[in-house]
Amino acid sequence: MTKTLVVGAGGVSHAAVHKMAMNADIFGDITLASRTKAKCDAIAASVKDRVGVDIATAALDAMDVAATVALIKETGADILVNLALPYQDLKLMDACLEAGVHYLDTANYEPEDEAKFEYKWQWAYHDKFKEAGVVAILGSGFDPGVTSVFAKWLKDHRLKTIRQIDVLDANGGSNDQAFATNFNPEINLREVLQDAKHWEQGEWKITPAMSHKVEFDFPGIGPKNMYLMYHEELESLSTHFPEIERARFWMTFGDAYITHAKVLENVGMTRIDPVMHNGVEIIPIQFLKTLLPDPGDLGAQTKGKACIGDIATGEALDGSGEKTYYIYNICDHEECYREVGSQAVSYTTGVPAMIGAAQVLKGNWTEPGVWNMEQLDVEDFMDMLNNHGLPWQVHELDGPVKF
Ligand code: NDP
Repeated sequence: MTKTLVVGAGGVSHAAVHKMAMNADIFGDITLASRTKAKCDAIAASVKDRVGVDIATAALDAMDVAATVALIKETGADILVNLALPYQDLKLMDACLEAGVHYLDTANYEPEDEAKFEYKWQWAYHDKFKEAGVVAILGSGFDPGVTSVFAKWLKDHRLKTIRQIDVLDANGGSNDQAFATNFNPEINLREVLQDAKHWEQGEWKITPAMSHKVEFDFPGIGPKNMYLMYHEELESLSTHFPEIERARFWMTFGDAYITHAKVLENVGMTRIDPVMHNGVEIIPIQFLKTLLPDPGDLGAQTKGKACIGDIATGEALDGSGEKTYYIYNICDHEECYREVGSQAVSYTTGVPAMIGAAQVLKGNWTEPGVWNMEQLDVEDFMDMLNNHGLPWQVHELDGPVKF
């Protein structure tokens, strides 16, 4: 019987573990472990209530490699699904290597003391995973994750080469909060406030955060302002599809979000270095996270839709010249909440984490080594998106994007 170990018990984990329990034939016995066991128990209770499946829970500090190895052995896990934070990626990869089990995450490693994510640290594990005969799947969320799977599918089915690609992430959801992030606030603010960076003609172009705004009419949502940002799939896509001349990432933000984020940055609340406060050392952004709403709790009050996808231009596979395609999913916050008790951002990350882990467990992704999603066979992954709550559509556009 297959055994699955999930680490981290936040918003994304809530959605992923419910979906794994709904697919018990693939995931077998599930154990959920995290720093705060009470959060694992709350998810387990919800899974029992909604899906009728029992999952085991455990306390685990994911920075403790020996403790993780011991838990992997105790549970007999075949795969460790890392839904904790990017800071834990390397320690959890070390534990998987030592225990000889597969690994999957949804976010690129970044050091806690520097807001800079890069694949070099995780790519450096490729040979070790190869030698150990186990698979590591990087970035199996929606973006990164499905956005890379979409790019690969376009290359398999529509475009011989991708000349330019834009990843567009729109959250048209609203809730009662004056300011809230839709995933971990610390990771979200570190990402949003760093310089924007995009790939163009063989080099990275750097522009100040939030300095490039475009209005786009999103399917299922309508017109919204989106901002140029740096995002990790730009690094992996431009590496693995070297023909790409331009790769950009855009995300929508409302004016209130941007104003709050700027004010918090200006007053030092997003600082990631330790400061002394009343004789105690604190890291301001971690204190801010304690004050902000927990994104995992926003499901009940979030309404509206999210739409994430890629617009890619390149030479058509059938030789008919240059073509542009838009491939995307539309996800409804309230439907996600009805199904698993999550808002759409947790859902659109948790479901691809489940599907990515299913690819490994079903024997579709077996080549030992460290892989990004666009390097893999994505046929079954795309089918599972359609069958497990994230249906996608692809449309040809009149020509390349004009923004
Ligand atoms: P949360 O903050 O809600 O959850 C993180 C969980 O990890 C918490 O349960 C936390 O424990 C646990 N954790 C943190 N440190 C440790 C540790 N040392 N040992 C064990 N457990 C630990 O985050 P989200 O659910 O919003 O996000 C989860 C991941 O998903 C993040 O890496 C995020 O970047 C990624 N993500 C990826 C997306 C994509 O599309 N690819 C989109 C959105 C998010 P505790 O409860 O004690 O704090």
